[in-house]
Amino acid sequence: MAFVVAVLLALALPAPAGAGDPRWRFYTDDRTAYTSPWYAGAHRIMIPYGCTRAPYYAPDPRCAPHRGFHHGIDIAMPCGTMLRAGIGAWVVRHDGLGPAYGVNPVLLRNYRRHIDIVIGHTRRGFVRPGDRVRPGQVFARAGDSAAPDGCHLHFEVRDQGGGLSTARWPRPLLDLSAR
Ligand SMILES: [Zn+2]
Repeated sequence: MAFVVAVLLALALPAPAGAGDPRWRFYTDDRTAYTSPWYAGAHRIMIPYGCTRAPYYAPDPRCAPHRGFHHGIDIAMPCGTMLRAGIGAWVVRHDGLGPAYGVNPVLLRNYRRHIDIVIGHTRRGFVRPGDRVRPGQVFARAGDSAAPDGCHLHFEVRDQGGGLSTARWPRPLLDLSAR
């Protein structure tokens, strides 16, 4: 019984002051803080890839009734967190992405792997189309542009030049490690 009470208390306790964005809503049971070559610090998954009960996505035939499909993986992180290139890539125009990723997302292309990487909701980019980013290079800061649920990294992997329907399981490239 004491154990149950302790668990309930732990679940009810708020995050440490300054550690969180009050707008964050987590749609996973995974409370692990992960590091990644793609960002500074260690942070939690907010919305995993795939069918989700998060309310931000249109109902999808692949999912249970009234559930949408999240084409990337969301990592909750403080506004302004440095984002780094996990692999070398070219920056390409993001005009075709539409408004859901914010006003200044970053679209990266790796020609050898034939993939595009969509970096959504960035607050500020340090690169522009035609630039090349090298592994480890800081290219943007995390933000909340077009993100009602607070500052986070939306990380999405597509076929090179492909649309939303080509989005794939992004976690291998994000290369998360438990802290
Ligand atoms: Zn997302």
